[in-house]
Amino acid sequence: MLARLAVIGGGAAGLAAAYYAERAGLEVSVLEASPRFGGKIFSLSGDGFVVEAGPDSFPATPGVLELARELNLTHNLLSPCPNPNPSYLLYKGKTLALPDVPPVQLPWSIGPLLSPAGRLRLAFERFVGQAADPDEGLEPFIRRRFGDEAWSILARPLSHAVYGANPADLSVRSAFSGLWEREQKSAAAQDPNDPKTPARPVSFPGGMGAWVKALLLHLEGKVLAGTGLEVVAISREGEAWQIFTLRGKLEAEAVIFATSAQRTARILRPIYPQATALLNQVPTLSVATVTLAFREEELPTLPGHEVILDGSYRAESFLWASKRWTGRAPEGFQLVRVNFAGEVARLGDIDLTRLAQAELERYAGDRKMPKPLASWPFRLGTVPVYQVGHGRRVAAIEDAIDRMPGVFTAGLGLKGLSLADSVREGWQAVQRALNYLALHPSQHPSTPSSTPPIAEAGHSPSS
Ligand SMILES: Cc1cc2nc3c(=O)[nH]c(=O)nc-3n(C[C@H](O)[C@H](O)[C@H](O)COP(=O)(O)OP(=O)(O)OC[C@H]3O[C@@H](n4cnc5c(N)ncnc54)[C@H](O)[C@@H]3O)c2cc1C
Repeated sequence: MLARLAVIGGGAAGLAAAYYAERAGLEVSVLEASPRFGGKIFSLSGDGFVVEAGPDSFPATPGVLELARELNLTHNLLSPCPNPNPSYLLYKGKTLALPDVPPVQLPWSIGPLLSPAGRLRLAFERFVGQAADPDEGLEPFIRRRFGDEAWSILARPLSHAVYGANPADLSVRSAFSGLWEREQKSAAAQDPNDPKTPARPVSFPGGMGAWVKALLLHLEGKVLAGTGLEVVAISREGEAWQIFTLRGKLEAEAVIFATSAQRTARILRPIYPQATALLNQVPTLSVATVTLAFREEELPTLPGHEVILDGSYRAESFLWASKRWTGRAPEGFQLVRVNFAGEVARLGDIDLTRLAQAELERYAGDRKMPKPLASWPFRLGTVPVYQVGHGRRVAAIEDAIDRMPGVFTAGLGLKGLSLADSVREGWQAVQRALNYLALHPSQHPSTPSSTPPIAEAGHSPSS
């Protein structure tokens, strides 16, 4: 079957969608607004350093591993350096070691960090029933199930570091679905050693950019993909969609949006203001990272692989990137990453870098932080915040998008924030597009595949 599918956005979700669509025999075009593919995934290498702008790993779920195998990447997987206590939490000025268990098992494992009263309360967790409201906030959920101390010592700072948002507003069902599911199957909720162990994070020696590179290599010559092609509008003409960029237009029978909710809202505004209004209701948060290089001998001792900060800091967490992964810095040097979320993540490069240094100096205190030798600030756009009511909002958005024939979304970050979620959503969007195209056989002679995606503006996937 040959039909034309346009994928808007060349990040993890868009490239996964292009991969699965091409594999299914569709003629695909990928339109990426920025000068490079990969979206939030971007690795920089040079002088022996490997710097990650966004994700430094992905959860090795069966779905992602299968795609990694197909891309010939599994022989090259890298696990974090062994460390008995990889994660620490700052609480009332003290750095506490978190038990080395998957995040979903943490609430059951933090007894040693609690006071005797907090531990006793935690022991009662097994007798706590299900909530009356299936879309409960994270704070009431944790306080009800695990007690107040579990909230203030563990869940509050941890969820703030993961989502950057006000953790009290988060929906436990949408933001921490593993915990929510455990409560639904109450037997599993009481078994901290549930054998369904969540996937461990893995990466690649050259960084996460290897994922993007492998996908582009696979797609080269098979899929028409172009960068610098920001889609500004789409319109329906007959049985096809016209897709407009500032550099030309493209016709497609089906369209997959693999951008963000806000970007999709902007594109749909002229033709579908109701969908735009729903998409714009999703709250978002800006995210940024600053990676700093230091001479190892000058650095104070840094605990584990990461420290999750409490609300008194403007950064969310510190990641000792070259302690977590081998091969990230040349011998005698270390890379430290400072993660930011919220308004602060919109600061310009100079201010953000200064703030990253200041936050590290404050954390180090008397131990003194040296001046960095180099710095790499990255502003990474926004991520959606899964507040209470998120599930209902997403259902309404899906319902609205369903009314547009041949238009699909690859998650838009609304159904999970990890690479595994992007891959799964890319695959699902393609399945829906295939069903649609099977029911609506092509009425247009397809353009020969040597034609660039946009007249006068073609790039090969490797560009
Ligand atoms: C700091 C940080 C750390 C992370 N850590 C991890 C981690 O450890 N593990 C993990 O699994 N995940 C992690 N993630 C999440 C992971 O990065 C994302 O799930 C994934 O990269 C999202 O891919 P995406 O394609 O959905 O979106 P994006 O990467 O945002 O891609 C969307 C693409 O659409 C393009 N676009 C937007 N508008 C238009 C338009 N109008 N026309 C054409 N193109 C357009 C954008 O330029 C972009 O390239 C992290 C994210 C961040 C920010």
